[in-house]
Amino acid sequence: MGKEKIILTGDRPTGRLHIGHYVGSLKRRVELQNSGLYDKTFIFIADAQALTDNIDNPEKVRQNVIEVALDYMAVGLDPSKSTIFIQSQIPELCELTFYYMDLVTVSRLQRNPTVKTEIQMRNFETSIPVGFFTYPISQAADITAFKATTVPVGEDQEPMIEQTREIVRRFNHIYGDTLVEPEILLPDNAACLRLPGTDGKAKMSKSLGNCIYLSDTADEVEKKVKSMYTDPTHLKVSDPGKLEGNTVFTYLDAFCKPEHFGRYLPDYPNLDELKAHYTRGGLGDMKVKKFLAAIMQEELTPIRERRKEFEKDIPAIYEMLRKGCETARTTAAATLDEVRKAMKINYFDDTELIAEQAQRFGQR
Ligand code: ATP
Ligand code: MG
Repeated sequence: MGKEKIILTGDRPTGRLHIGHYVGSLKRRVELQNSGLYDKTFIFIADAQALTDNIDNPEKVRQNVIEVALDYMAVGLDPSKSTIFIQSQIPELCELTFYYMDLVTVSRLQRNPTVKTEIQMRNFETSIPVGFFTYPISQAADITAFKATTVPVGEDQEPMIEQTREIVRRFNHIYGDTLVEPEILLPDNAACLRLPGTDGKAKMSKSLGNCIYLSDTADEVEKKVKSMYTDPTHLKVSDPGKLEGNTVFTYLDAFCKPEHFGRYLPDYPNLDELKAHYTRGGLGDMKVKKFLAAIMQEELTPIRERRKEFEKDIPAIYEMLRKGCETARTTAAATLDEVRKAMKINYFDDTELIAEQAQRFGQR
């Protein structure tokens, strides 16, 4: 047990995927999937979790399942290497969640900083759905059902992985070694931990409408980059500009590679020089934005084109998901069997139990 290296991660079908997802997790997953270093990769569309804060809008979730699946295929997730599935189709996850709920206190959930922020964002303060409040527990079920060792995610997921690790430790302590403690795998580039929105807000998020989507047209990307938040005090080209909180430079930190200068901005040898000029004054926002737009198009064009190809056969995408669900369900069911056994709720497949009880009641 625990020797296999297993990747698991997922996304909520609350919208198409954006470049925050891309740098925070998707790009890494594809690299890991292709690295040959992992025994299994599980990628899932967290529709049940998306419903926890969209319960009155099931159509939104339904529509976005296929959008997310297309984005997966577009970035290079490959169903022959990764099991891609839909959370709600694996009922074993609900059962695990139900048992894990007994291992977590309400005050522990209340301390989760990501959930706190999300509650504020959604104006849930006085009416938090119980399912939303407890989604970190359900996430622990998602991760442990597949015995994941490695979870590649953005920084906002850190409290979820920590919560999962606590549940695993508590479970194994009480019931014996059964579950595997996962490790978080964060992007190694600091700008990718939590990519800000085009409006400069702390996080690009489907729910905030400040996203550049992987499936945006070239025109949309161009427009979004041109209207991005920069330094509001940098009014004239000659003014000195600030880099801190300047979204265009954060995106350059996330996407710019040395070779981009030769291709799109040969007047500068590297990003440090560009930053220095901006800080000194004399470099206009538009020039930097044009450079960023060129980089974004280079990165996004192949993704957009692959997506168009996959969009030509939608039934095939659903069939791929159906098969993924089947495989995932087998794995989750095997873990659930172990959990039930460890928790001593496997009455009928335990022949010893029946014999013992018969003896206790004096039957021989
Ligand atoms: P929602 O607003 O519905 O929660 P979201 O945009 O936050 O949507 P999720 O599906 O919750 O997207 O997150 C999917 C994955 O993408 C997670 O691993 C998360 O850490 C990562 N991620 C999301 N937004 C960003 C971001 N702005 N920067 C880096 N990683 C991100
Ligand atoms: Mg989120």
